[in-house]
Amino acid sequence: MRKGALPTPVRNCKHLVGLLADFVEHQLPPAVHASLERHLAACPRCVTQLKTYQSTVSMLRTIKDDDLPAELRCTLKSFLDRNCHN
Ligand SMILES: [Zn+2]
Repeated sequence: MRKGALPTPVRNCKHLVGLLADFVEHQLPPAVHASLERHLAACPRCVTQLKTYQSTVSMLRTIKDDDLPAELRCTLKSFLDRNCHN
């Protein structure tokens, strides 16, 4: 089998989590985006991650900073930090 002939599918869940932010914003190159979608079709664990991420992001967008208790803001921020790291 020749190496490097095919586009690399996204198999690594850790790697995928790092791409979720760009994925939901449609900022990934089409090939990477498609590869992620294929992975999600086969990986319920990552789908759960994606849904959690999406609901967190939409929640953050609908809530003004001032409305958030500092404690909750911290929790959300650390959640995002954890999940956005590459
Ligand atoms: Zn996965």
